Amino acid sequence: MKTKVSIVNVTEYNSVPEAVEAAIKLIEKDLPFDFTKSDYILLKPNLLSAEKDATTQPSFVEGVISYLKNIGVSIKNAKIGDSPGQFKKNASYVAEKIGLSEICEREGLEFVNFESEIPVEEAIEDAIRMKKFLVSKPVKDCDILINLPKLKTHAEATITGAIKNYWGIIPGGLKARYHLLGNTAMRFGEVLADNFSWLVRNKPNRLTVYDLHRIMQGPRGPNVGDMINWNLILAGTDELAMDLIALEIGKFDGLKFVPHLKNVAERNLGISNFADIEIVGVSLDEAKRKTPRFKVPGSFMTSFVSYLTGHLGYKIMKKIPFLNRRLCVKCGECAEICPAEAIEFKPRQYPSYLRKKCISCLCCMELCPQHAIEARTRGLMGLFD
Ligand code: SF4
Ligand code: SF4
Repeated sequence: MKTKVSIVNVTEYNSVPEAVEAAIKLIEKDLPFDFTKSDYILLKPNLLSAEKDATTQPSFVEGVISYLKNIGVSIKNAKIGDSPGQFKKNASYVAEKIGLSEICEREGLEFVNFESEIPVEEAIEDAIRMKKFLVSKPVKDCDILINLPKLKTHAEATITGAIKNYWGIIPGGLKARYHLLGNTAMRFGEVLADNFSWLVRNKPNRLTVYDLHRIMQGPRGPNVGDMINWNLILAGTDELAMDLIALEIGKFDGLKFVPHLKNVAERNLGISNFADIEIVGVSLDEAKRKTPRFKVPGSFMTSFVSYLTGHLGYKIMKKIPFLNRRLCVKCGECAEICPAEAIEFKPRQYPSYLRKKCISCLCCMELCPQHAIEARTRGLMGLFD
């Protein structure tokens, strides 16, 4: 099996959207699907937090929309969304802050918070650690997935890029729960590979457009690391190949030092042999020559952060729903949608939350028609919340 990865230099174009379109056009003949025949194209950027540098640039979304419109796709058949996890603010809040909502409104692209629909339980056939999981409904339902990652260092996973960006297909606080299955850097790498394995088997129609225009490096990624311009965009359909090429450009051996990439390669979930990757556009040598070395966190840092998030983070920072009785109208809808059956409801009474059963997905909060539920951090961290 071979794959094609395009590399374009943003400085050779008038704008980022133009460069994004050019990157996709270089590989469009090799796409194993037809955008114009799809009823549901889902764009999945990285909307980690309201820090603009921590997210995929909105101009990438503009470029993808422009490409789709130019080939005759009705934007009514596309949506965009993400789920940043246990943060106080959801994806649409992040989109508003970074100027993405404005683009979506202008272009007629619907925005979806992945927590706003009841997630779907799915088995992962060849899983090492995460045998089954709850996946966001928009991801389950879409027939083409456009992955829009940004290259950043990640204090726990070493890097976040094409494969790690899919961790956001698990809605809200559920991510923290599955995190418990991978409480060392190596084990978390296996969990990320399990998550990716589901996509490989269930979502064959995938395109990745990779933001290497302005990347984040250093030990404080993925939220507040050091920013540097690489001025590059990659497009392709094999995420492993793309992560490895992105890191090769930064003179960093992804197969050796990034646990999830190593695991994905060992399980043959993508292409890792450079002889099987055809580069189109800017040559790999040229891209490497113009790009400084990528600075990643050391292995001590990644092990330490893994320990914190895997062993302690979830327990200390777990968010639980909290009922505002003044707003609740006792309709019982929250009990009906709870995937963990963690809400007890009797007619004409307030719902009660079974904290031990609650998996922190926060679907009840998203879907309560009265906005009567808020998320509160429990335990010690709750005092600071
Ligand atoms: S869905 Fe909202 S309003 Fe209805 S019972 Fe639950 S908390 Fe109350
Ligand atoms: S009670 Fe817990 S598990 Fe149930 S929907 Fe709310 S957050 Fe999710």
